[in-house]
Amino acid sequence: MFYNEYSKEKLQEELEGLYKEYNKIKESGISLDMSRGKPGPDQLDLSMDMLDVFNSESDLKASNGFDCRNYGVLDGIPEAKKMMADIMECNPENVIIGGNASLNLMYDAISRAYTHGIMGETPWCKLDKVKWLCPVPGYDRHFGITEHFGIEMINIPLKEDGPDMDMIEELVSKDASIKGIWCVPKYENPTGLSYSDEVVKRMAALKPAAKDFRIFWDNAYAIHHLYDEEEKQDTILNIIDECKKAGNEDMVYEFASTSKVTFPGSGIAAIASSVANVDEIKKRMSVQTIGFDKMNQLRHVKYFKNAEGVKKHMAKHAAKLRPKFEAVLKMLDAELDGYGIATWTKPNGGYFISFDVMEGCAKKVVNMCKEAGMVLTGAGAPFPYGIDPKDSNIRIAPSYPSPEELIDASKILIVCTKIAAIEKLLE
Ligand code: PLP
Repeated sequence: MFYNEYSKEKLQEELEGLYKEYNKIKESGISLDMSRGKPGPDQLDLSMDMLDVFNSESDLKASNGFDCRNYGVLDGIPEAKKMMADIMECNPENVIIGGNASLNLMYDAISRAYTHGIMGETPWCKLDKVKWLCPVPGYDRHFGITEHFGIEMINIPLKEDGPDMDMIEELVSKDASIKGIWCVPKYENPTGLSYSDEVVKRMAALKPAAKDFRIFWDNAYAIHHLYDEEEKQDTILNIIDECKKAGNEDMVYEFASTSKVTFPGSGIAAIASSVANVDEIKKRMSVQTIGFDKMNQLRHVKYFKNAEGVKKHMAKHAAKLRPKFEAVLKMLDAELDGYGIATWTKPNGGYFISFDVMEGCAKKVVNMCKEAGMVLTGAGAPFPYGIDPKDSNIRIAPSYPSPEELIDASKILIVCTKIAAIEKLLE
């Protein structure tokens, strides 16, 4: 029965029981962290062999004979470009290998547009207003970058199959100050859902008023499935191909990295785009650096051999992550289904579950969890300016704690969600 069908007395009674449970948890001195989408230590262990790829005797030459120990090769060694191109399903000529993190490449792309403009258009710093579309809930660090540059962010509701395309088409076609959109097309952070073919096609066929409008296609979870069975793996259309077909070849920058493949912060990152964009980026990048860490590029390729090798490795991550997601989902299904006070996503991949509590309750739930010893991502964080207009979304990051800890964590979340909902209903 839904809580809103309970009598006041019954709700009071339920609340008393829940508070008893909550206080017991609080007294137990539990300490859990579900705030960030970090791989667990057991996942990091999976890549330790990569450190044995080189020793002082190793030949550190790339496939083209280039000595990776030295300066040079701005856009990455050929085999790393090929491996990342295969992961992003494009050609090596479309790829630049960057440094240790894709977020850095995204920041730099906006920074370049800001100071120097894109393909001869006015640098954004010289414009009165720059606006950006932000599908929500989304990745807090994306919004952090656009906020940092003083870009006005516009919330775009996310549906089951991607962002509201009617709204996006309307906005970009009329307003030349809208210069971009953040997209996490596969296993979105935090919903874990993926864009449908229709959404990708409509995105690629946009007719923006701004010539320098760019889709920031952050394919951070391109190969991060939770299941080995193909029917349980999401697939998305290739945005670079679709943009080309729609005559919008230059409209997209795609990003990916090996952060959640090997070691976050010590992996390799890549940007992919049209040859014209790649040329422009390389020209500007050549002022910034002589070249990124080629030894790490070589280490990654020697370890994995190719994209197939990476995908095989990802199945090992899936085996570690799957029980964690399933532990949380099982608890939510068993303890929260049928009360009408929360909904949650059931992703096939990625690092997050998106959990929506009753409107006006998310902050309270997160605070109560914290007081009971469990840290969650701050309520509102998955929204521009940290403001969730409905105060209902909570990001669950199950990757770091153990499955046993996740059972405890889910219990706390469930109790707090119920308490907040009942107190709201009793207001
Ligand atoms: N993009 C998304 C959508 C993410 O969720 C994350 C990390 O959580 C990143 C990018 C960070 O990637 P990188 O380590 O390559 O900067």
